[in-house]
Order: sequence, then C-alpha cells, then structure tokens
Amino acid sequence: MIAETVFVGTELLLGQIVNTNAAYLGKQLSILGIDSYYQSVVGDNPRRLAACLKQAIERSDVVIASGGLGPTMDDVTRETAAEITQRPLRFDSDVWERIKGRRRGTIPENMKRQAMVPEGAMVLPNDVGSAPGLAIPVCGDKKLIILLPGPPHELQPMFERYVIPLLLERLGERTTLVSRTLRFCDIGESPLEERLKDLIANQKDPTLATYAKPGDVQLRISTKASSYEEGMRRILAVENEIRHRVGEYIYGLDDTTLEKAVGELLKRCGWRLAIVDTQSGGALITRITDPTGSEAWFAGGFVASSPAQALTHLRQMGAAPARSDKKEQLSPMEWSDALLVATDVFDADVMVTLLPDEEGGTFIVAMTTAGRQCSTSVGAGRGDRETWRWRLSQSALVLLRRLMAEHIRDVAG
Ligand code: ATP
Ligand code: MG
Repeated sequence: MIAETVFVGTELLLGQIVNTNAAYLGKQLSILGIDSYYQSVVGDNPRRLAACLKQAIERSDVVIASGGLGPTMDDVTRETAAEITQRPLRFDSDVWERIKGRRRGTIPENMKRQAMVPEGAMVLPNDVGSAPGLAIPVCGDKKLIILLPGPPHELQPMFERYVIPLLLERLGERTTLVSRTLRFCDIGESPLEERLKDLIANQKDPTLATYAKPGDVQLRISTKASSYEEGMRRILAVENEIRHRVGEYIYGLDDTTLEKAVGELLKRCGWRLAIVDTQSGGALITRITDPTGSEAWFAGGFVASSPAQALTHLRQMGAAPARSDKKEQLSPMEWSDALLVATDVFDADVMVTLLPDEEGGTFIVAMTTAGRQCSTSVGAGRGDRETWRWRLSQSALVLLRRLMAEHIRDVAG
C-alpha cells in the first residue's frame, strides 16, 4: 500500500507555521511500514487543492490531508474533497449533536459546515476539538482520501485512535500495532542516540524512533504483532536493553509528564516543595501544580518580577536578613541562607529558586532543608518566550529529579 500526504494551508506556504504534521505523519507511516513517496503543501485555494488531491489519489492508494476543516471561509478541504470524489455533502445530525455537545452557549451558524459529510464517507470522531475527520472512499472502495484537522493536538489523537486501525485493516494483515514510549530527561537526543547507536542502526522489528523537544526526549518502540501480548513481549526485550544502558534518564512511560513524575517522586520522598520564581513567569508553579493531588507536595511559593522584589517578600515573611545598608544584592551564600529560612516559613522540605545570572541567563538552584543542593545555569537567547519558559521549568524539574534520585539512593544505602 502506498500512502501520501497533503498539507493544506496558505500559512504553511508562507512559512508562518512550521509543518510539524508532515514530520508526525511521515514518522507514523514509516512506523506502520507503509510506503510514502510524496508530500505536498498547498494553499487554501479550492482549484489548486482539487488538482493536488486528484494527482495524489491517482498515484497513491491512500491520501491523508491535514488542515482546512474548520468553520471559516478559507477552510475548503471538505468541500473540495467532496467535489473531486463526486460525493455530495449531506448534513449529518449525529455529528452536529456531537459538535453542539462540546460547546456552551450559542453556536455560530458557520459551525454547521463541520457537520457536512460526503455521501458514503466515514466520520472520524474528534475527541478534543469540533471538526471531525473524514475517510472518503474513492474508486469504489479501492482507495481512500482521509481528511484530518490541522491543529496537531487534534490530528495526532485522531490519527492514533481512528486512522491507524483503518490503515492496518487495509494493509490486510491481521495485526495490531503495539507501541510504547520511553520518556527521557537530563540527556540530549544526540547523546542518547549515540548510546543506542547500534540498536537504532540495526532496528528491524521493533522499530525505534526518537522525538525531541528542549530538555525532553521520547523514544517510541513499536512493533506489528498478531496480539498485544506478543507485541509487548518483543517491546520489553528491547526496552530492557535500553534500560540497562540509559535507564537513569528515563522518567516515565507513554503519556507521563515530567511534572507528574517529579510529583510522584516528591510523594515517595515525603517532601514538600516551595518555589521562588523571578524568571519563568510562573511556568514552574503552573507545571508542578498541574497533576491532580499536587497539594500533597506543593507547599507554596511566589512569582516576583525581580530578585529585589523577591527579597522584599522574603523579608516580609521574616525569611531574609533586614538590611541597614539598603543593599539589594545578596551574595549566593546569603541567598542560600534566606531560602533555607523560607523553606521553614513554607513548611517545605525542598526549595527551588529561579534567579537571573550574570550573563543574562537564569540560575536555578534546588536545595533541601537537609543541606543537599544542586544548581544549573540556563543560557539565554535561544527560542521564543514560550520555549524559554519551558526550558526553565524543565531544567528546574530535572534538578529536582536529580536531588530526589540521590536521596533515594542514599536512603537505600
Ligand atoms: P481549525 O478548525 O482550527 O480552523 P483546520 O482543520 O481548519 O482547523 P487549519 O485552519 O488549516 O486547520 O489550521 C489551523 C491551525 O492548525 C493552524 O493555525 C496551525 O496552528 C495548525 N496547523 C495546521 N496545519 C498544520 C501543519 N501542517 N503542521 C502544524 N500545524 C498545523
Ligand atoms: Mg481553519
């Protein structure tokens, strides 16, 4: 079976957004063992989109298109695909009820377009957004055009839940795709690949694929097998080897997040965490309080606009030395002392502080009331604000994880 992908959106052509769906779908098809020879990007123009889809479905068995399923005038994928497959659009009241069920208040009339389904097409539910996907049979049922929404957080679960089973069924094999994702931190993608070089180079089955974002690397192990158990058995054999080599960097599996993993570790250590943040705009506090039950390990903290303001707060709490000389800079030693007092005020066992460093980056220090400490500096200047805040919170979580790993090792003797 040959599949190809079409990405719809003038924003993509203009470079206003990065085509991450192309990377995602490309990797997914390769993991599934489906050949894919072409990827196209086309603007929101019905005539050019029609030409592009026609060409694609002539040379491939399955065409997967992303984008342009929304309610606005420039979203034309559904109508165009209906036209070239000569399947008139019909209003589907079940789809409409589902869309209405997801929203509160009045629904704009133009949303009704998202409930239009080409005759004979299969609806792929959207579990996280409104526009459903569509699988439209072509040439009888020999070929298939699959339409998916553009936003990656909608496209990915839809692909994994509804498209993969469709594709596997068409592959004609009675197999299931079994996969497991190992999540790493505190190690970059290249050093990780270096340590797993032979496994990655010689992979046949299961296959290994890495995905990375700043400070977080995922390794997906996948296999096609006749049963889930059989697939898992093969995956675990590879996973054991990986754990043997780089197990200390694995913080969790599949959908786990680093904040969840750190929360669990804090619980295991019986530690409560306080945070003083002058750098990430609260990103660290947001992440650490994201998992349910975080009140068990989050003791409190605050976001300040500068170290001087943090100092004023700490003084008001009685946690920093009062200054007669009006000096607003504390030496690192003085900060440590102040923060240790602050852990007392917050009734915390561990404290994380984010402060500006001298090079315009951020100095992050994690310390326990028992005197264990580790710190790092994150250099400024790479990525946008959101990426920057993510990197800071990620580095702080990594430090915490390191501290707790050391503590657990010590306790175990
Ligand atoms: P919506 O209902 O949000 O309008 P849609 O299915 O109509 O969804 P588009 O309007 O084409 O999709 O794109 C919506 C957003 O989805 C884009 O602004 C962009 O953020 C994201 N997006 C679209 N296509 C891609 C892509 N190929 N790669 C990454 N992100 C994409
Ligand atoms: Mg749209």
